[in-house]
Amino acid sequence: MFMETIVALATAPIKSALHIIRVSGDDSFEIVSSISNKKIFTEGNRNLLVGKIMDGDKHIDDVVFAIYKNPHSFTGENLVEIICHGSLLISNQIIELLIKKGARMAVNGEYSQRAYLNQKIDLVQAEAINDVINSITAESKSLSMLSLEGKTSSFVKEVKTKIADLLSLIEVNIDYPEYEDIEVANKTTIIEACTSINQRIKELIKDGEKAKIINEGIKVSIVGKPNVGKSSLLNALLGEDKAIVTSIAGTTRDVVEGDINLNGLTLHLLDTAGIHQSEDIIENIGVDKSKKAISEADLVIVVLDGSDELTAEDKEVLDLTKGYNRIVVYNKADKGLIGNKEDIYISALNKDIEPLKKAIYDKYGINEETFSKPALNNARQLGLLGKAKESLEKAIDDALNDLPIDLIFVNLFNAYKAILEILGEDNDIDLSKEIFKRFCVGK
Ligand code: GDP
Repeated sequence: MFMETIVALATAPIKSALHIIRVSGDDSFEIVSSISNKKIFTEGNRNLLVGKIMDGDKHIDDVVFAIYKNPHSFTGENLVEIICHGSLLISNQIIELLIKKGARMAVNGEYSQRAYLNQKIDLVQAEAINDVINSITAESKSLSMLSLEGKTSSFVKEVKTKIADLLSLIEVNIDYPEYEDIEVANKTTIIEACTSINQRIKELIKDGEKAKIINEGIKVSIVGKPNVGKSSLLNALLGEDKAIVTSIAGTTRDVVEGDINLNGLTLHLLDTAGIHQSEDIIENIGVDKSKKAISEADLVIVVLDGSDELTAEDKEVLDLTKGYNRIVVYNKADKGLIGNKEDIYISALNKDIEPLKKAIYDKYGINEETFSKPALNNARQLGLLGKAKESLEKAIDDALNDLPIDLIFVNLFNAYKAILEILGEDNDIDLSKEIFKRFCVGK
């Protein structure tokens, strides 16, 4: 298939020492040659040339051409990277010249899409490129890098192979009962195999949900009656004086937002006005916002004054947040404690908030290992893993209920399709290839 030649600036569109313009497609060598004093070629897989960009007789820039021959490039196509001086005027001139000579502007993600279409990367890796670029913390970037390197895909491929093994075994048992040297696929062996695969899928889902949290962060709302120390807690978490702390009740009138990196876990914080009944109109607006913030948050931190008895207002806040995912903390621990030992005590004033940080990590099951374990991490991937799990569970149920083996096969095949879809390999499902690969049937 002919692939149009596409062009785009690969570096940020700002003034800098250098810019890189990427040209990829079947005609890329010819098109770049036509605006250069050098012929773009490579005898081996790659080549580096120094040359000039020319607009007819006009010298535009001195550049370096990094030349990659199909399939030895990121996209798997003939690709040229033009390393020019980092002025937008120059890079725009070069891009315009390339378009005049037949290239077209690339659309978002088109280089990665071509890499995927040319089977240089699978879909999980393609998605990881985006994640690496959009990472908000060093930790989420490291996790996405593991996916980009193909480590996450290798886990998925292991599951794929196991399901394909089982499908092939069932198929070969149905179609070639006369073969004596093949393993027998009876209901017990099928249930055992499905259960073990499903167990692995469940682990992948669990790790994936954690990785999704590391990748996207969680929305946290801090609530409590006025003066319990919500703003002070926000400051302690932020490590800066973003929220105004005062001892006059109800001063935090608006929702103050901020992102913090809690040792690799991003909290998108919403500090809200105190939840209490107020005659003050501005306060009431704040109260409504607080209620909205509670319903929008992934996690609600309820702050109580640990140095004082609970009041009706505290109980109201506890009631209001009851059905939500929440952590209740007792602040002002430095003033002396009342209450139970197992409660979480902090002192926002002294920035002593470790117990709260630990409670957040524990709630999401995040620990050191989470940051170095390759894992699927987006809704598409996790949704498909969920689908595979459901299909496997149906297959197990069918086997337990002694349903015909063809029905079990259908559910198992659906699980296989969902796994292939994660990797973007679902267009070309030919199970017979798998069967022949495994058992020299028809030899
Ligand atoms: P908010 O209305 O809930 O946001 O409460 P603030 O953060 O404005 O704090 C109200 C008052 O309590 C201020 O005078 C703070 O200095 C004080 N405060 C907050 N946290 C603590 C704490 O951990 N210990 C003590 N002793 N005082 C605190």
